[in-house]
Amino acid sequence: MAAMYIAGILNKEGIKPEILEVTPGRSAVVARLRSAVMADPSKALLLVAHMDVVGVDKSKWTADPFGAVMKDGYLYGRGAIDDKGMLAANLAAFIALKRANVRLNRDVIFLATADEEQGGDASIKILIAKHWDKFAAGFALNEGGEVLLKNGKVQYVAVQASEKVPVNVAVIARGTSGHASRPTKGLCGDISNSLRPSKTMRSGSGCGLWMLPIAANTRRKWFRTRTRFGTQ
Ligand SMILES: [Zn+2]
Repeated sequence: MAAMYIAGILNKEGIKPEILEVTPGRSAVVARLRSAVMADPSKALLLVAHMDVVGVDKSKWTADPFGAVMKDGYLYGRGAIDDKGMLAANLAAFIALKRANVRLNRDVIFLATADEEQGGDASIKILIAKHWDKFAAGFALNEGGEVLLKNGKVQYVAVQASEKVPVNVAVIARGTSGHASRPTKGLCGDISNSLRPSKTMRSGSGCGLWMLPIAANTRRKWFRTRTRFGTQ
């Protein structure tokens, strides 16, 4: 439905969109502003945003989550921030380029995807596998980063280049050494001290966390009562 809606807007602007079915009922929309008859896909710029949103529990909302209600200067709606705001901005920029008849030195491609939040049957991975030729690009602008607005003034525009990548932390431990299978009190005190600056790290990796209390060994008790050691 969202794909049809966006395709309708593009059509009205004289841009021919293509609906790419990824899985039955879930489609992406792609459109292109050409720089030349034989454009170089490695130079093309892709503006990509997703149309899908995370789930909604309507009972917890004070406004219709799909009503795009304006209230106290805010727009209420599921996906208003993630990622329909960007989707609308991409669409507006794309249409503005078309209306201004800008002479482009690279193709600009608009892509609205259908399955970012779940990464399921219609994810970008599947879309690329099925239709990469339709939106092959050398550069892509996608969601991420952050624009901080304070008292109506933009403070900065951040650029996010990647996300959810591993971070390696070097930890130097000083003190008595020991075996990891038998953490003994006092052996890793220095490690937890070095991790203290970060709360997240402390809760996730703090030495105290994996030094769990050792429960009474019931199996040993059971054997003791049944063997000759039981009397010892
Ligand atoms: Zn998103």
